[in-house]
This record gives sequence, C-alpha cells and structure tokens, in this order.
Amino acid sequence: MKYFKKSFTQQEPLSDSAIQAATEVMLSGRLHRYNTVAGEPSEVDLLEQEFAAYLGARYCLACSSGGYAIHIAMRAAGVKPGDKVLSNAFTLAPVPGAIHNSGAIPILVEVADDYCIDLNDLEAKASTRESKVLLLSHMRGHIADMDRIATICQRYELFLIEDCAHTMGAKWNTVPSGLQADIACYSTQTYKHINSGEGGLLVARDDKVMARAIIYSGSYMFFDQHRAAPPPAAFDSIKQVTPNYSGRMDNLRASILRPQLTRLDQQCARWNRRYKVLDQVLRTSKAITIPDRQANEQFVGSSLQFSLCGISSSKIIDIVQQCGERGVVLKWFGEEQPSGYTSRFDSWQYINDMPQLTNTQRVLSSLLDIRIPLTFSESDCQLIGEIIVDVVDQSL
Ligand SMILES: *Cc1c(COP(=O)(O)O)cnc(C)c1O
Repeated sequence: MKYFKKSFTQQEPLSDSAIQAATEVMLSGRLHRYNTVAGEPSEVDLLEQEFAAYLGARYCLACSSGGYAIHIAMRAAGVKPGDKVLSNAFTLAPVPGAIHNSGAIPILVEVADDYCIDLNDLEAKASTRESKVLLLSHMRGHIADMDRIATICQRYELFLIEDCAHTMGAKWNTVPSGLQADIACYSTQTYKHINSGEGGLLVARDDKVMARAIIYSGSYMFFDQHRAAPPPAAFDSIKQVTPNYSGRMDNLRASILRPQLTRLDQQCARWNRRYKVLDQVLRTSKAITIPDRQANEQFVGSSLQFSLCGISSSKIIDIVQQCGERGVVLKWFGEEQPSGYTSRFDSWQYINDMPQLTNTQRVLSSLLDIRIPLTFSESDCQLIGEIIVDVVDQSL
C-alpha cells in the first residue's frame, strides 16, 4: 500500500534575499512603518507601491491581516451598524467576522455547484435593494463570472468589495483579480500566496475611500508619507471624523514580502503545475466530481476542491479517515462541528435570523478540500491523487 509522508502545512523557507532584507530592518531598529529617516520610504511604503504596480491598481494600503483589511474596507465603504451586506455563504470565518465587526448584518448568498457564489440567488437578494454592498469572496480561488457580477453591481448600485485571499496572482479575462472591485483585500497570512505570517493588503481607486481606509488603519496623521495613496487634500474632510482602528503592517513583514512579490507569478505557475497533476489523477475516479473551470478564469491552484456526490456522510468521514491514515489530509466542509480552517455557515451563530440555505447545505455536504503547499513536488501530487482515488474507489 502507498503512503504519503510530507506535511500538508509545511511552507517553503524564505529566500536569502528576504532574510537579508529582514536582517537589515532589524539592524536599523526602525520597525514601525512611520519611523523613517527623512525623505526615505519605509519598507511598507515600498511594498504598497510595488503591489499597486504589480496589479495595476491605483492605491494600496498594507495592514495587519486580511480579515482586518476586509473590516476597514467595510468601514471605508461607508457601511453603518445595522446595514445589510451581501456575501457568500461558502467562505471562511474572517469574512462574516469582518461584516459583524463593522456592525453590519450579513445576507448570505447560496453557493452554486461550481463552488462560486450562486448568481441567481445573488441577483434575487440584490433586487430587494436592502443591501448597498457586496462582499464577494473568491473562496478557495474560485472566481465567479465577473462579467455578470459587474452587471448585477451596476443594476442594483452595489459597492463591490472583493475578498482575494485566494486569488492573489489570479485573473479574470486577463484582468488581475480584485481590479474590478471598488475595494479588494488580500491576505499575506502563511497559507496564502505570499507569506509574512500575518498581513493584509487593501487596494482601492477612489480618493475618499482610500483616505478613509488609511486613517482607519492608524496613520497617526502621517498619511503624507504613503506612496500609493491619494493626495493629502483627499484627507482634509475626513481626517478628524474617522477613528483610528490601529492595524498597520510593520517594516519587518513588508521587507520579507517584497522579494516574494517579485516571484509571485512564478510561484503561481508552480502551484498550477501541481494542481494539474492532482486534478488529472482525481478525475480518473468516477465517484469524484471536479467542476470544470470557466475559460475566463485564470486561477491559482494552491488548493483543490472536489465533490463526492451522492456518497453518505458516514462514508465520507470514513474516506477522510482512511486518507489521513495514509498521510493525505483532506478537509470536509460538511462537518457538523467547525474544525481546522473549515467552518460551515450555520456555525456562525452570532448571525441572527440565519436563512435556510438548502443548496449550500447540499454542496458542502459532499465537498472536500486539499491543500497543495509548494513543498510538494509534482510526483508527490501524483501519489496523493492515487491514494485518494484508491481509497474512494475501494469504499464504494
Ligand atoms: C485567509 C482568508 C481571509 C483573511 O484571512 P487573515 O487570516 O485574516 O489574513 C479572508 N478570506 C478568506 C476566504 C480566507 O481564506
């Protein structure tokens, strides 16, 4: 019997240039983003400038985490306590958490069979015009039809915030993921596409919106030092009426992210080669369903999702266990109790009046998830796929 031996949570080491850059910051003692020598940009200023340039975005702000970036995106969008915000029912806990943190109420939208937001349910829920904001989560890197999203946002005058935690480096129809949004938020947490342990990046195009986000992040009125920010005049009317919710990024994290950003596209290509191997092996089992991706979607395969349609919960639990015993860690989104990084929408019990989302229940009940860290080789992915197919086919 074949076994897999590597860890599903082991990242690649940081490069020598990242370690060198971090050492220089530590030797300087100037770790705070606004602690600069006169006229010199800080590592955080440069990261913001470089990430904006990488995407082709107008403005960029580095924050303490992806979830924090989404929270201040809500605030910068003008969301007020009691407002209703449309968002995916299939997402990760920081997304409804950020909505809750802004005092707003999530209106959860069903997931479709392709793991993207259900566009018909979205249109139905937008058409009541109760919500002014759509927080669209590209959960596990699945990008919904962004042309239809744009039409829906235009038709119902929705402010679009994109959660691009899993789509940094991905594109829709050659446009970098996040550029269609009024605000897009990225994460640099260890399990995303660039790694600073914790961290977030927020991009926006409107002067006022970005000025508000910068003040919220805790600018101590040093906003004129930012290099990917609107001109100081944009801050005039908002700087005294916008609270400081301290959540800045520091120079140490920015210094290790900058060299990673230069290699991001290369890393995405490496993820996609691994994804392709795993995808091809898994498709050899008749019991495994992997929805086809849309032609316009240039995703980053840093994780893979598949469905075991029509297979009972008890059998899925058994499959997950058997794969685990052979060294392959699968996550099941149908689990009753939230565990690991997965949680089902019905475990977010702080949301009042949780709707019945029968389609989402159904999709999640057969949905499995597998991480693809870059410490795995393509032949590792071949082996992992063979083990899964073996376990699934034998359990039927
Ligand atoms: C990781 C993640 C975030 C943000 O996470 P942080 O850990 O706060 O950086 C947001 N949305 C999704 C879907 C995520 O996976």
